[in-house]
Amino acid sequence: MWKPYRRAIEILQAVTLTGLPFLVIKGQSALRFDIPTLKLYVFGSVIWIREFYLILGVVLFFLLFIAFVTVIFGRIWCGWLCPQTVLLDLSKSIVKLFGRKNQKTIQSLLFILLSALVSITMIWYFVPPAETLKTLFVSSTITSFFLVLWIAIYLELSFLGRKFCTSICPYAMLQNALFDKDTLVIEYDVSRDDTCMKCDECVRVCPVGIDIKNGLSSACIACAECIDACRVLSEQRGMPPFPNYKGLIVRPKTFWLGGAIAAAGVALFLLLWSRPPVDFLVTRDNAPLLSGLNRYSYTIYNNGGNSLILKLSSPENVALIGEHSLLLRPFSALHGRILVKSSGKLERVHFRISGGGISISRVIGFL
Ligand code: SF4
Ligand code: SF4
Repeated sequence: MWKPYRRAIEILQAVTLTGLPFLVIKGQSALRFDIPTLKLYVFGSVIWIREFYLILGVVLFFLLFIAFVTVIFGRIWCGWLCPQTVLLDLSKSIVKLFGRKNQKTIQSLLFILLSALVSITMIWYFVPPAETLKTLFVSSTITSFFLVLWIAIYLELSFLGRKFCTSICPYAMLQNALFDKDTLVIEYDVSRDDTCMKCDECVRVCPVGIDIKNGLSSACIACAECIDACRVLSEQRGMPPFPNYKGLIVRPKTFWLGGAIAAAGVALFLLLWSRPPVDFLVTRDNAPLLSGLNRYSYTIYNNGGNSLILKLSSPENVALIGEHSLLLRPFSALHGRILVKSSGKLERVHFRISGGGISISRVIGFL
């Protein structure tokens, strides 16, 4: 039976997605995009908006990964992992716990609660959970987002449900282009059609309302409910279920496509984790203020979760007029200005920040 495995994976997915915003690493959410400062906290590190190409790389990697999974495993995402599937399946299981009475009312109440939970969870990926709960009905922005998402998710679950998969979902529309003859699908065994009991249990349990006996349908989400339903009856007669998984997982495409995706994943991982703990940018502000006096702007990015005390200096014989000792808070950016005064002829200035095991130099022209 596939159902216990599906339920276990669905519960794991729901707990992971709801619990992730509560996981705090070095004082910040494990995964959260902070809108006011436009930075993404990601498992103890931070990606700034100026490094958006990294986020783009991660998104592209996941798109390629999903395409690979679809080519090999078919609609496994739709039937086993999609948040919509998880919500609908879990609510169905919970409704069943209450028996046959008032099922519709219980389901509606459940949808209201689940939609609220999903709505607030989505906000937690942008605003820390403690702050969200404190400001939920105080900040008009958070209240509006919460209510709009809540209503939209409730309407989607109650009135669209599985219709979304067969009519709107863009991923579902892509499937046909990605499938090949060996992709894992759920197929009815036509060669044994004369022994099928035609009880239509497979049709009764199908969440998208198709009859697998009529052949492969693009609406099938590969949830395996029909296999489980048929197995109950067919095994009593000593036969395997009529609908079943069919496809070839281990084949050359799995290795070369999987290898390419894995290589891209490793390259991306190295790119992300080889970033320096601190980044230092300096630019000269326009023309000199006076002869021998230039003004520079600098920004220091702390990519890590520790506070740092840094010293701004220049090895050249110039006077730096401004703050030299800098406190860099965790995951923060420090912007500042400094004047450079030179009494002799000077073509460029070496700026250095040092402290906490860090030493970074930048060379900028002097006018
Ligand atoms: S549940 Fe199995 S036996 Fe019954 S109609 Fe479907 S395929 Fe045939
Ligand atoms: S045909 Fe079977 S696998 Fe496909 S959606 Fe219906 S129940 Fe799920």
